[in-house]
Amino acid sequence: MSSKVYFADIHLKNIGENLRSKVKKLFLEAGFSECFVNNDPVALKIHFGESGSDAFVNPVYVREIVDMVRDRGGKPFLTDSNTLYLGSRGNAIDHIRTAIEHGFNYSVVNAPVIIADGLRGEDSIIVHIGKKHFSKVKISGVIAKSPSMFVISHAKGHEVAGFGGALKNLAMGCASPMGKRDQHSVKPYVLKEKCIGCGNCVSACPKSAITVESSQMNIDKTECIGCFECMTICREKAIDVDWESGIPDFTERMIEYAYGAVSGKENNIGYFNFLIRITPDCDCVPWSDAPIVPDIGVLASRDPVAIDAASLDLINAQTGLNGSRLIKNLEPGGDKFKGIRELTDSWRQIQYAEEIGLGSSNYELITI
Ligand code: SF4
Ligand code: SF4
Repeated sequence: MSSKVYFADIHLKNIGENLRSKVKKLFLEAGFSECFVNNDPVALKIHFGESGSDAFVNPVYVREIVDMVRDRGGKPFLTDSNTLYLGSRGNAIDHIRTAIEHGFNYSVVNAPVIIADGLRGEDSIIVHIGKKHFSKVKISGVIAKSPSMFVISHAKGHEVAGFGGALKNLAMGCASPMGKRDQHSVKPYVLKEKCIGCGNCVSACPKSAITVESSQMNIDKTECIGCFECMTICREKAIDVDWESGIPDFTERMIEYAYGAVSGKENNIGYFNFLIRITPDCDCVPWSDAPIVPDIGVLASRDPVAIDAASLDLINAQTGLNGSRLIKNLEPGGDKFKGIRELTDSWRQIQYAEEIGLGSSNYELITI
């Protein structure tokens, strides 16, 4: 059976319409009013963006979702979990400050920000899932306790996952730092012939696991938490992981966490994917590079697998943008995220999510 995915095109078709009004229309068409009942706390799971990035979902669109929830009796709040690495979102104080600096303040979004896992990530709840890699997962307390949720995701690339959409937002975004650590157990290594000893990776490492001596970088594997921050920052491509043995398991662990994040409220979640400013890197890095394809629009669905499958199909159907980090597969139909990072496999997320019962990759695209 196919899942419905609703699509609002970025292009103006009728005078008077705009993307804000289309977000509201998507909410209604996708039946999102049925995701919560009167007086329910409704978590709007968002990524506020690392300080320095600016391609995260625009708060003015989030305001539309907040108002739709509030007008129908729900109690909306914006939330995200603290990060595993230091950065600007590693504890609730810095995290809320970053959110406010990025426009997620009450006067814009009309809802409070509540960090999902407490001051330093200590509010974590065990959710039993009984899957291949994990029998139980550690989900941020506020998210686990919220009876309903909207998962609002910016579609973009990721260093090892390939694509970041709804599934990744559920998996990494809803896990407490300990849960994030469980998912990231792949340790990178240095390609000595490529390393120029610039030291950029040293300051990026949250665990001080990197040293540079005699123009060569070394990783202390006992300290490394596998966060991939060093890989993202190295412009020489001198840091790599074992793609054959490490990454398929990483992807499966991630998807099992997504399963844990929705557990108990499967019928009370709505997903929005914003296919706007589709950047090569995740919003966790302190920059936003040029987009790899033109803006496409916004999707809404009750199925996280269907919405990510539809997002990938729409992105891959575009002609890649010259001058962006996309160096291959620019033609319509080419796998854009492999065009940036050849060894990634975005579709593996979709396959495994379908395998463990998170949703269906078979979708019907309904343009509103
Ligand atoms: S950022 Fe890359 S090139 Fe620079 S020291 Fe680290 S591994 Fe070597
Ligand atoms: S060495 Fe790299 S992957 Fe390991 S903790 Fe440091 S930045 Fe993260």
